[in-house]
Amino acid sequence: MLLISNKDDLGHIYRTFNADICSKFYPPQTSCMISKFDNTEIAFRYQSDKDLALARILFLSMHSPIITKVGSAITQRALKAHFPIKRLIKNTIYKIFCGGETLDEAALTARKIGKHRVGVILDYGVEGKETENQFDSATNEFIKAINFASSEPNIPFLSLKVTGFARFALLEKISNGDALSEHEFEEWEQACNRIERICLAAFESNLMILIDAEETWIQEAVNDITEKMMERFNKKRAIIFNTYQMYSWGTLPFLKLAFANALKKGYVLGAKIVRGAYMEKERARAIEKGYTDPIQPNKEATDRDFDLALLFCLENIDKLSLFIGTHNELSCIKIVSVMQARQILPANSNIYFSQLYGMGDNISFNLANAGYNVSKYLPYGPVDDVIPYLMRRAQENTSVAGQTSRELELINQEIKRRRRK
Ligand SMILES: Cc1cc2nc3c(=O)[nH]c(=O)nc-3n(C[C@H](O)[C@H](O)[C@H](O)COP(=O)(O)OP(=O)(O)OC[C@H]3O[C@@H](n4cnc5c(N)ncnc54)[C@H](O)[C@@H]3O)c2cc1C
Repeated sequence: MLLISNKDDLGHIYRTFNADICSKFYPPQTSCMISKFDNTEIAFRYQSDKDLALARILFLSMHSPIITKVGSAITQRALKAHFPIKRLIKNTIYKIFCGGETLDEAALTARKIGKHRVGVILDYGVEGKETENQFDSATNEFIKAINFASSEPNIPFLSLKVTGFARFALLEKISNGDALSEHEFEEWEQACNRIERICLAAFESNLMILIDAEETWIQEAVNDITEKMMERFNKKRAIIFNTYQMYSWGTLPFLKLAFANALKKGYVLGAKIVRGAYMEKERARAIEKGYTDPIQPNKEATDRDFDLALLFCLENIDKLSLFIGTHNELSCIKIVSVMQARQILPANSNIYFSQLYGMGDNISFNLANAGYNVSKYLPYGPVDDVIPYLMRRAQENTSVAGQTSRELELINQEIKRRRRK
């Protein structure tokens, strides 16, 4: 169960939350329970000793920026030169962060974590496709995945990137408000049809679709199609979710507007709240092109808007569905605290927590153990196709100013605990 808090914990949370808003439902004198995510026995119980030892070696290697940089470069070159390293990748980094090459393999992973009340968000990890044929076959693959997931008890969500079904340059043109040629117009219609087919299949199977947020300069097109899909399929409950990146200073008002529009048009907003993954790229482009940086001035501002977005959603939780994607333990503790203070049950069917497969297991499995709805993003697909995803995970886990990463610290703790048994 949840671990007990005391007033000091509460004061700390309160201070780091937005005081004005928080005090509405979370007065500092209130004493309640909060979650701590340091129970490694619960966090790693789905992992064998062997799996954990492998994870330790990998996180230890990724911890070094030099090893990560050199390792990434060598891997990419070796794959280009057709060196037989796929098996090595599949048995190491792929095993840590991906579900499997096929749906059947991914289902085995889903069942393994499902035993501990943790669900799966299937994420077909193929990226960077550009032709109509590739988009059509991605659509078929996606619908196959929906049919597959509907027969599995533990896969409530699938995630979708609009760039998997339409050319990036086309999305950019639409987002810019540029005039489209006749051919481009048809292309966009095709892309919308693909996404609509997918959303309809999910709707008919009672599964939910999370539409990822990507670079801000294509987001207008992504938001446009996502809102249309929400309007069509979210009449009774949220089937389609849009993603709101709180590292952008324009997102909080946009979220509130999206909610107001949903109420006006009579559908349920599906709001996936994240901080945002493309900060460096966004900043570099803004400088290069000479426009105002869309990103918040600092991390504190991102954290503030992230908190405010969550509070806004929790305040309106009877009228929207909230999906929280974060590895930040304090953010999760804050949400849990507000839920407790507002007497929102952990298993409320409008609130979902999520972390990536292979990361933040301490958050996912401890939350799930306490009765919260939790799912892991589980990429699957051929080894070659998920390499860019794996490289991003490796970079994300390199050391910050020489600190031992939180993942490594927890793995070490669990290995020690098992040895002591
Ligand atoms: C399940 C799941 C789904 C996701 N889906 C998406 C998605 O669809 N689209 C997407 O873009 N990302 C997505 N992400 C990634 C997410 O946006 C974050 O990049 C990642 O989770 C790290 O943020 P955090 O909240 O976990 O942790 P933290 O470590 O607390 O936050 C790190 C984040 O803070 C922000 N930040 C850091 N430094 C600064 C600074 N100086 N100024 C302003 N902001 C700063 C950045 O967004 C950075 O990624 C997803 C993550 C998860 C777990």
